[in-house]
Amino acid sequence: MNILFLGAPGSGKGTQSKNIENEFNIPQISTGDLLRAETASGSKLGEELKEIMSSGKFVSDDIVLELVSKKITSNDCKEGFILDGFPRNISQASSLDNLLNKLDVALEHVFLIDVPTDLIIKRCVGRITCDTCGKIENEYFSDYKEGDSCGDGVFVKRADDNEETVTNRLKVYSEQTEPIIDYYEKKGILHRITGGEDGPERLTQEIITIINN
Ligand code: AMP
Repeated sequence: MNILFLGAPGSGKGTQSKNIENEFNIPQISTGDLLRAETASGSKLGEELKEIMSSGKFVSDDIVLELVSKKITSNDCKEGFILDGFPRNISQASSLDNLLNKLDVALEHVFLIDVPTDLIIKRCVGRITCDTCGKIENEYFSDYKEGDSCGDGVFVKRADDNEETVTNRLKVYSEQTEPIIDYYEKKGILHRITGGEDGPERLTQEIITIINN
């Protein structure tokens, strides 16, 4: 089962990927998480990535493609994978097609999560993530704040989740990522689902129903 989540920053791709990973026992491949792991390693590449990511721009296609290829061809992904945050432009979408053709596998479902822009900004600016288990909460919509304990670790804020960078990320999304919606619509595998203020569970159920049918 090979699945892809599309959507603006803060649309809930990460949360839904994690829920679907837990439900079907298929690993999430988040290019954002892989890149953040590299920045945390303190390597020279990590330092360069940090600068690009904190401006809201995209990292080069070659770097993300290498990270994704390594994961997709690993044993963990034998039963399938959930792509979160890749591809983000037409060139990446076509590289992904080439890679999947070589491996003789196909994408079965692409889920586009649609969320109103004002809600997106609140979702990003309030987002906090457990530094140990990756659980995501929001300072606006829950009682948790940055620095609180999650049970496993401590909630931290991402460096690129401030209003200025989020505004840039939304602009880059509409210029570079939105065109790939049409790319997958034409392939007949796109499902549009609408997120709102009612929490992630309803969407997760919608996604599970689509997958099981
Ligand atoms: P995310 O965690 O998906 O919001 O990604 C955080 C940041 O990582 C993005 O704003 C980009 O700078 C970088 N990034 C993640 N995925 C990609 C990708 N597929 N292509 C280029 N840059 C990416």
